Amino acid sequence: MSNTEPRKAGRHFLQIPGPTPVPDRVLRAMHSQILDHRGPTFQKLALRVLEKVKTIFKTTSHVVIFPASGTGAWEAALVNTLNPGDKVLMYETGQFATLWNAMAKRLGLVTDFIPSDWRTGVDPQKIEEKLREDKGHAIKAVCIVHHETSGGLLTDVAAIRKVIDEVGHPALLLVDTVSGLGSADLRHDEWGIDVTVAGSQKGLMLPPGLAFTAISAKALKASESAKQPKGYWAWDDMINANKSGFFPYTPATGLLYGLDVAVDLMHEEGLDNIFARHNRWGVATRACVKHWGLENLSREERYHSPVMTAVLMPEGKGADAFRKLVLETFDMSLGAGLNKVADKVFRIGHLGDSNDLTILGALSGVEMGLELAGIKHNKGGVQVAMASIAAAHQRPVRAAAE
Ligand SMILES: *Cc1c(COP(=O)(O)O)cnc(C)c1O
Repeated sequence: MSNTEPRKAGRHFLQIPGPTPVPDRVLRAMHSQILDHRGPTFQKLALRVLEKVKTIFKTTSHVVIFPASGTGAWEAALVNTLNPGDKVLMYETGQFATLWNAMAKRLGLVTDFIPSDWRTGVDPQKIEEKLREDKGHAIKAVCIVHHETSGGLLTDVAAIRKVIDEVGHPALLLVDTVSGLGSADLRHDEWGIDVTVAGSQKGLMLPPGLAFTAISAKALKASESAKQPKGYWAWDDMINANKSGFFPYTPATGLLYGLDVAVDLMHEEGLDNIFARHNRWGVATRACVKHWGLENLSREERYHSPVMTAVLMPEGKGADAFRKLVLETFDMSLGAGLNKVADKVFRIGHLGDSNDLTILGALSGVEMGLELAGIKHNKGGVQVAMASIAAAHQRPVRAAAE
């Protein structure tokens, strides 16, 4: 930002679905002098962080941490478990699923990409049909996006696991939860996920720069014979070095300081409390959007997102001009529509280190923006959101006493 721009007082509202604002305690933890990544101080930090991060994935097996964006973890998941020419089943929930599919094809995998209109999560029935047809077990992996960030679409991963088991298909289950982890429940072990793919800059409340793969015993076994070419992403080098608290190349030491504290903050709050507030914001935001008379991109309730809401613009109104107006007037960033829904939707992020009043502030910015942009809507959506949030805080005991 150039210093000729006038100063904006107060906090910027970063209401995109990631990167998200970073808590002050995490910022302070990262504000540390660089340390020797082959020395004993780092070793202690690494051993501690590698162990405690497992609790966020709800796993007891390896979580490999790369200095990379989430996209790197997609690649790590594919190249460590598969062989050239292997068939993988993917599902077009939106832009992120589309990008993962494109990457798989570039890596020489053969993808069966189940088409969808970007308005639903993964339908377990469609996965089941494909697996039942695959009598010869040509499909080596099912790759799905837990929370599709282009549309605000949540997939029931346990339901996908269930159909894989019911069919008795041996495919690996690879799950992208870059924008789900830390906002919506994810259980790597209990849900039988083979590789969980995540990133630092969304629900984990860190800056961009760390990519994670949580690895099941089955995926680790597959990696021992997997022939996809790999260098940087090789798990075996990582896992070997991690055993003694080191990395095969220079790790993102500053971000690991941050991760150490971010995991502590999450447990201080309690994972269930974190998921509950995201749910509360999802419910309130959807009630607000509905009251305005605008449409949620997520068409079916079962896929609605606790992380963010994508709002469809009325015919003939551009979402990008609307976002620009909101940014310039209220200093709030809303998420852009991507690819197929570019300029057709704006996304309201309600995730990460936030609270009820920030979310209500964000919704008021949108409502005032609608007014200023001359977009027809019913006033009072924020009032509806307030009522929804207040109701969520009303404990049954108190209700009975009144
Ligand atoms: C953000 C995101 C990614 C990509 O992460 P980068 O850090 O931008 O590489 C992948 N999948 C989903 C679902 C995301 O939300």
